[in-house]
Amino acid sequence: MGGRTYIGAVSRDRPTDPTFVSSEELLARSTAQGARGIFVRFVLVVLGINLVIGGAVVAFDIWSSVRETRESLESSAKHALYVADRLHAAQPDLPLGAIVTRASELTGMPMALLDARGEVVTSTSPKLAGGLRVVYGSHLSPGIRYEIREDLGEVSGAWMVRPFLEGARLVVVVPHTVEDEGRVEYFTISAGVLALGEAFTLLAMLLSANWILRRPLARLVNELTSALARDVQRRQLAEQSLHAKELQLLQRARLASLGEMATGVAHELSQPLNNIGLLASRVTRRALDDQPDPAFVQDKLQKIQGQVQRASRLIDQLRAFGRPAVHNMALFPIDRPVHAVLDLLQQQLQNRGIAVKVDIPADLPQACGDEAQLEQVLINLINNARDALEDRPADPSCPAIELTAEAVRPSADAEAEVHLRVADNGPGIPSSVAERVFEPFFTTKEVGKGTGLGLSISYALVRGFGGRLELSSIPGGWTTFTLLLKTTLVSATKDALHAGADDPAG
Ligand code: ADP
Repeated sequence: MGGRTYIGAVSRDRPTDPTFVSSEELLARSTAQGARGIFVRFVLVVLGINLVIGGAVVAFDIWSSVRETRESLESSAKHALYVADRLHAAQPDLPLGAIVTRASELTGMPMALLDARGEVVTSTSPKLAGGLRVVYGSHLSPGIRYEIREDLGEVSGAWMVRPFLEGARLVVVVPHTVEDEGRVEYFTISAGVLALGEAFTLLAMLLSANWILRRPLARLVNELTSALARDVQRRQLAEQSLHAKELQLLQRARLASLGEMATGVAHELSQPLNNIGLLASRVTRRALDDQPDPAFVQDKLQKIQGQVQRASRLIDQLRAFGRPAVHNMALFPIDRPVHAVLDLLQQQLQNRGIAVKVDIPADLPQACGDEAQLEQVLINLINNARDALEDRPADPSCPAIELTAEAVRPSADAEAEVHLRVADNGPGIPSSVAERVFEPFFTTKEVGKGTGLGLSISYALVRGFGGRLELSSIPGGWTTFTLLLKTTLVSATKDALHAGADDPAG
């Protein structure tokens, strides 16, 4: 069988994976494999049982045949001795040697007569005298012995010794051959029958294997696979409906957020527009005056510009939220964007009495990302910290923002990351709020002050260059946002690709 692999050009309807195996093929393969495994085991067991039973039957037959043969030999020997007895009874004057010779002639069995000292008096076969020494040595005890040996020639067989008249002993041999016990034939025939039986069993099993095993197995595998497929399908459907529900919820949440944002945006935009309107009408009025006041006009026009900037900042933020970001990825020392941002914000932080502490070691690896976007993220984080410190209810004595960085190796074989922390000792973030801070449009700030877009945009930007943005906050303690940045372009790009799916702004 073996799996078919698709090599070279791939046709339209075939999957591009060269190791692809269709489900029909898998089904056929597993059925055949299963059937083969069961069949081989089955054959081994049946043949083994056959061999054991056959062997036992053959052994029993051999044993009983030998026993029967020996019984018949014994009765023949007894018969010969009986003939000798009868001859003596009929002719008591006949010498013992003549009786023995006569009895041997009548029965056709070799006989010998030994005197009381064990010397051979008469022997009807020359081989018998020699054989006596071979079989009995010097102890000729009465009884029957089976000496079926080739070296004894015609006197191989059952040897029976019996006391005879005048202290003599009579020996009779019932000749016998190895073949007489039927062993060889029996072995041959039995082995043949056994082999035939085995061959027949094997053949029958081979022929019936398809019917006995393969078809029911195929049915079983088929049922199992379709049950599995049904199960998977059911699960997929369940997941799909769950997903659809989640999407619905998300959609609803987005709509709600959009509603909240729309209110915020309307307010945020209407304020500068109102102000612009007011300022413009005052400038117009003054321009119509007889005594124009250039200083007054310049001041109002500057204010109008400020209001325009305020409105366009909001519009920029909204745009950034809607547009997929393009990242100019590069490696840079992390202190560079930190100092660039602080140069911009330091003054206003100082004006608010907020102390800024920076602790960035010189030997850090370079961080990977879009430096300009990272600056934007830092501005968001520092502005949030500033707002939080302004809200701080108690202990206004030492409001502070700390920017610290370190190199961290997440595991022994992983590459180092640069962790940049932006922390403030403001009021902290309660966990119910912390859960939602990265959501687009989520804000706790008063209408017109916050749009709820800063953190979600920051999160998406950082994910976009393969990093992460994490929050830890101890209510009443320090609030820390940590930027975890990659240190090589390769891993940054790889992680950025993975990040696409969970971009909350996307
Ligand atoms: P916005 O600043 O416009 O509200 P953000 O997405 O930047 O939007 O922040 C969302 C919310 O997260 C804020 O309204 C505020 O409740 C909370 N937050 C962010 N940073 C901090 C901080 N450093 N301390 C306390 N709360 C914070």
